[in-house]
Amino acid sequence: MSNLVLYGVRKVFRSRRGAPVEAVRRMDLEVRSGELVALLGPSGCGKSTTLRMIAGLEDVTDGDILIGGRSVLGLRPQERNVGVAFENYGLYPPLTVAANLAFGLDARRLGRARERRARIHDVARRIGLLDVLDARPASLSSGQKQRVALGRAIIRAPDVLLLDEPLSRLDAAQRDLTRRELRRLQRELGYTTVLVTHDQEEALSLADRVVVMDEGRVRQVGTPDEVYDDPADVFVAGFVGEPAMNLLPGVLEGGGPVWLSPHVAVPTDIRGAAGDVVLGVRPEDVILVGPDADRSGGVADAVAHVLVVEDLLECTLLTVELPGVERRLVVQTGPGLRAVPGQAVSVAFHRLRTYVFDAKTGERLR
Ligand code: ADP
Ligand code: MG
Repeated sequence: MSNLVLYGVRKVFRSRRGAPVEAVRRMDLEVRSGELVALLGPSGCGKSTTLRMIAGLEDVTDGDILIGGRSVLGLRPQERNVGVAFENYGLYPPLTVAANLAFGLDARRLGRARERRARIHDVARRIGLLDVLDARPASLSSGQKQRVALGRAIIRAPDVLLLDEPLSRLDAAQRDLTRRELRRLQRELGYTTVLVTHDQEEALSLADRVVVMDEGRVRQVGTPDEVYDDPADVFVAGFVGEPAMNLLPGVLEGGGPVWLSPHVAVPTDIRGAAGDVVLGVRPEDVILVGPDADRSGGVADAVAHVLVVEDLLECTLLTVELPGVERRLVVQTGPGLRAVPGQAVSVAFHRLRTYVFDAKTGERLR
């Protein structure tokens, strides 16, 4: 297994018509040997372009890409020993599953027919395709097709495995299952892997580390816990997490509180800065305190009005309105909470899990 290093990698698409597009702005990243790193971001942020540059399907405009310590820029895709699986499968319809898998084998090192068959058999067994080796792609389910694409990517034991939205075509139940299998397989085989996804849940559940991207820029690199609990900026804060973090415009006063309106001040530990900010708090970090707590214990930050109550399986989501605050607040509580629209509830913001961002730059203030 090898590590993968991206050093100042940039990609500018130029066309005769229109302005150049800077799809990847300057990316520095090391994927350690055996690690699974997810590139996560909204559509168009440069994830696939990054993957295609690593695979050699796209030239880099600037920078260098190293696999196992050696630059691969001069190498053609077949020479880089990377395994690639894209979301649209890329299977050959007239060929059987076995023949499709064989296409992933290194043409220069095909070996004897018997070895080839053994390798196909081994991969098919690992990813649950033994029963359909003689079938053609048209007769397969979308889950099976995605497995064939994956099998073709791993069959040559690549140094680096590159997966672009590998589970996007599956329905929810299949996706959960395949996700777990993919993780097991990646661990078992120890492949250095880069996985592209726009699905934050997929990134958080699969990856050792997540690279959050936006408009060609890396916003944060961290473990799933780090990007969830310690977002570097307002973009990461809003993109990672479901239901999304509440982001409320406010004014930070010198002494620490953020004023969301003339009636609502949320205490924070931030000193020395003042000005326009965005206050971030996840729905599960807004605490409902007893109706009297604000008077007796002084713990509540505000009394809110309940607008919407959504009973979900594991929790209840409340949409509430804070006095004088335009943006609504979503609160997640345990199941079985009895709240009705129109009711008043006291809310407190979890002090250690309230984030403040500079309104202009989006940077986190600490
Ligand atoms: P993602 O995979 O994150 O959705 P992409 O890497 O596919 O995003 O695209 C990033 C940006 O580069 C987008 O603005 C896209 O329109 C642009 N882009 C991608 N491929 C090309 C191309 N071949 N020519 C011109 N622009 C492209
Ligand atoms: Mg893409």
